[in-house]
Amino acid sequence: MSRTPIIAANWKMNMGPKEAKDFLAALKNELSCECKAVDKVIVPPFVTIPAVMDTLNGCTCLGVGAQDVSDRDNGAFTGEISTTMLNELGCKYVVVGHSERRQYHGETNAYINRKIKKALAAGITPIYCIGETLAQREAGELETVLSTQVVEGLEGLTPEQVGGLVIAYEPVWAIGTGKTASAADAQAAHAFIRSVVEKTFGAEAAAAVRLQYGGSVKPANAKELMSQPDIDGALVGGAALKADSFAAIIKAAL
Ligand code: PEP
Repeated sequence: MSRTPIIAANWKMNMGPKEAKDFLAALKNELSCECKAVDKVIVPPFVTIPAVMDTLNGCTCLGVGAQDVSDRDNGAFTGEISTTMLNELGCKYVVVGHSERRQYHGETNAYINRKIKKALAAGITPIYCIGETLAQREAGELETVLSTQVVEGLEGLTPEQVGGLVIAYEPVWAIGTGKTASAADAQAAHAFIRSVVEKTFGAEAAAAVRLQYGGSVKPANAKELMSQPDIDGALVGGAALKADSFAAIIKAAL
């Protein structure tokens, strides 16, 4: 099965509305719609999403996502953002389970699973982040960690739902550190993740689910990573804050 590559810019706590508008103007100069063969997604901070939508003005060339979502519908949950709100803004994607949220906000697989279910119920595609820490890799726990994150994070989903997901494999030791997994190590981890999806949800889901690599992806390493058979795109942090380097990564997926 051929899977459309998907490149997403996780802006984290960077880029207010004004900077985002400047970024999008610069990105427009770098890219033309010849890049339709690649799904491109911008994931701004919540407060920047309306400015991004205004600038896109209905153009569907870029998808827009949120960096997180609540596992509740509405009510007394200070600081939380619901799927209804994301839908009202026009978000098509939501990042869930990013290692920074696991690390700094104590998010567990079970909690992330509830967010994934909320997103799917609202018609929003989750970008589900998984990955091991350096200590876990060095202790030989890579496969146990990844399979637990897949099985617990996706518990209760149908094979169709899993086939429509994006799973981002982001080794924690490679995020924002400048260290990238070698293409061979990244491919091995992606192939393993796909095998766990196959064992748990069947061959069709495994063939359809898109797997992104994340962790210090930059123009110089993007092509080699994305030419691996089980790597279907990239989740990009630092290198997605500049329009020229984000555009170069998109072009590397073509
Ligand atoms: C990320 O946090 O999702 C990420 C991949 O960051 P960076 O590209 O900066 O390592």
